[in-house]
Amino acid sequence: MTIDQSLIAKITAEVLARVQEQKNEAASDGGIFTTIDEAVAAARFAQQQLKKLSIEKREILIQAMRQVTSDNAGLLAEMAVKESGMGRVDDKTLKNRLAAAKTPGTEDLKSEAWSGDCGLTLIEMGPYGVIGSITPTTNPSETVICNGIGMIAAGNAVVFSPHPTAKNTSLTTIKLLNEAIIKAGGPANLLTAVAEPSLAATNAMMQHPGINMLVATGGPAVVKAVMSAGKKAIGAGAGNPPAVVDETADIEKAARDIIAGCSFDNNLPCIAEKEVIAVGSIADKLMAYMQRYGAYLISGQDIDRLAAVILTEKVELAAAGCTEKPKKIYGVNKNYVGKDAKYILSQIGISVPDSIRAIICETSADHPFVIEELMMPVLPIVQVKDIDAAIELAVKVEHGNRHTAIMHSKNVDHLTRLAKAIETTIFVKNAPSFAGIGVGGEGFTTFTIAGPTGEGLTSARSFTRQRRCVLVDALSIV
Ligand code: NAD
Repeated sequence: MTIDQSLIAKITAEVLARVQEQKNEAASDGGIFTTIDEAVAAARFAQQQLKKLSIEKREILIQAMRQVTSDNAGLLAEMAVKESGMGRVDDKTLKNRLAAAKTPGTEDLKSEAWSGDCGLTLIEMGPYGVIGSITPTTNPSETVICNGIGMIAAGNAVVFSPHPTAKNTSLTTIKLLNEAIIKAGGPANLLTAVAEPSLAATNAMMQHPGINMLVATGGPAVVKAVMSAGKKAIGAGAGNPPAVVDETADIEKAARDIIAGCSFDNNLPCIAEKEVIAVGSIADKLMAYMQRYGAYLISGQDIDRLAAVILTEKVELAAAGCTEKPKKIYGVNKNYVGKDAKYILSQIGISVPDSIRAIICETSADHPFVIEELMMPVLPIVQVKDIDAAIELAVKVEHGNRHTAIMHSKNVDHLTRLAKAIETTIFVKNAPSFAGIGVGGEGFTTFTIAGPTGEGLTSARSFTRQRRCVLVDALSIV
């Protein structure tokens, strides 16, 4: 009897792979490990298993991910609000459902081909391997769902670095997704993380040789960190979206849309309206309508009292020997980020009903409420004399983030001029900001909007490498 050596080798490899898989499953708690080394090793192994599956099977796994997160959208939202102390359960539920339903899957991967006298050349989008994804406290489940679907659809595995203040929500989302993938016949540990996320663990993950690509969703520090890590990096950073309203807008609709957008999840979304720039002739009418649609107007000393509560202030001492006046630097008091308008108002002795979703006030163009990314339902309104001044100020207060801008106008020239001047990744016209990520607006959704590195609204194809396959003198059939 002859022994087929290649068959024996194949069976041995399969048995060893299965043993390794069982070891990984046993060592992890639904994808959660003690050390970064373990989390990366398990994700690397899982990605090798994923590579063996067909795209059709990959899509079955994606459907299971959509289903489990949609089924648990409310639970994850409640958990996030409780754990982080930020946001609104109803809005977070909607965001989880949105990420589950409208994040593109494998259909996002497109091949290209050239055929001609020399044969056939094909470009395909292949996986990077294992991606390190750093997620924010403001979207602790949404980003995991959205990045998880997009990255796995592209054939990768993911090691997540969740924000420590919302870690249980992020880790629970990872576990739910892994359980659903395994149930659907996929490998364990396509999504991993460590049980105790920290800055040190994130840094170890970024430097780990087993991580092929980094994706950071957060503020400027983390975007800079991934861009300095020496690997392919996608950075989705901060925004400070202005909403411009000119004299041609439907003022009532503009007021309603702006309050809906700015109060959505208590202003946590990076795309949410953070300041309004209104042409003077319509500003009073706009503010009057805003009050009809859930805004509470404060003025005078109440604005100063609010500033004392929601801002932190430190004095930048003049450099040694410098005689210049010390400069005041403002920051955002994190205790009020993502809090309800009602709660924030109660801190300055104002009591309002639950129906109040946002606080509005008229300020100067250089007020810290305008300059800082507050991420709370406090909306400053700046009056300007005309559209030229509005465009100039909008560009200035967006700080060159090139993230998101909103405009309410029926004048196509005005709309075009702002869009050209501000160069944002998302420009929403005559709708709440969330239309820009597919809520009441056309198009897919994402929770990782990569302005700094230019991928824009990320989807599966953003997490791929292009590969060219060339066949000369054949397969061109005409
Ligand atoms: P954050 O920057 O404090 O934290 C984001 C993540 O980065 C966390 O996991 C944190 O642990 C990590 N991190 C922070 N500094 C780091 C460093 N120096 N090195 C390594 N890791 C670091 O942001 P946040 O408060 O969690 O989220 C809010 C911010 O994120 C806002 O600025 C918002 O605009 C932005 N954001 C952007 C997008 C987008 O798609 N562009 C989406 C959501 C939030």
